[in-house]
Amino acid sequence: MHLAANPDVLERVRAWVDDAERVVVLSGAGISTDSGIPDFRGPQGVWTKNPDAEKLSTLQNYLADAQVRKAAWRSRLAHPAWEAKPNVGHLALVGLERRGKLHALITQNIDELHQAAGNSPDRVIEVHGTMRKVTCWGCGWTGPMQPVLERVRSGEADPSCELCGGILKSATISFGQQLVPEVIERAMQVAREADLFLSVGTSLQVYPVAGAVPAARSVRARIVIVNAEPTPFDNVADAVLGGSIGEILPRICGGG
Ligand code: NAD
Repeated sequence: MHLAANPDVLERVRAWVDDAERVVVLSGAGISTDSGIPDFRGPQGVWTKNPDAEKLSTLQNYLADAQVRKAAWRSRLAHPAWEAKPNVGHLALVGLERRGKLHALITQNIDELHQAAGNSPDRVIEVHGTMRKVTCWGCGWTGPMQPVLERVRSGEADPSCELCGGILKSATISFGQQLVPEVIERAMQVAREADLFLSVGTSLQVYPVAGAVPAARSVRARIVIVNAEPTPFDNVADAVLGGSIGEILPRICGGG
């Protein structure tokens, strides 16, 4: 991926970051592609290459169809996130926190790589949940994912809850599933507290999360979008940096 961002614009955004006191970041799947986790809608995205994969992410299909659940468990077992390490993009955001500038990090990602990189868990707002936990759809039990994956490895194609026999699912928000109201409200609240809002690696097509951009705009926060492809909010941004996150973020987040 080429660095399409103009050096003057990069310098200007870096100066904005230096001046900012409450940076709010919204990250999406694009920040984790350099860690080997494909996004959904980018050129190499899971759905771009295989539109049927979306079915596995739809709650109604998952709950109704054991075949869909079995396929989902196979896909969880093989997920690249288990081997993935944070990349320079994640680390740049840790640098922003160490400089005392990061007010909050709203993420649509479910891979926990921001926390693995070193961002404080209490600053990370996971609007779409986490794939590292599992939840029972019957009794609400929640626990770590790995022991359940171990059951799949040992031959249970569709493991059920050991407490109530209910359907188990990763603690992520599927299509057709409601967001957790307190979590999305907190995301919108921090967006309204930003003086600089940095959208990174998201196509900004998923609502209500994408509404964090206009929420930040409504309090006159500067809006900066870092993404390889255009987004529907480019026209309201103060700067759009089209290019590689791994090249751009270290340049705009660094101190000095
Ligand atoms: P998306 O797939 O809709 O968009 C990702 C965007 O990032 C694309 O526009 C792509 O061009 C851009 N991009 C990819 N790699 C890049 C790079 N190295 N540099 C610059 N830009 C890059 O992703 P989204 O908006 O986050 O929405 C997808 C949903 O899928 C999210 O809600 C999330 O829950 C889920 N998801 C999560 C992960 C993860 O946790 N890592 C991975 C895939 C999907």
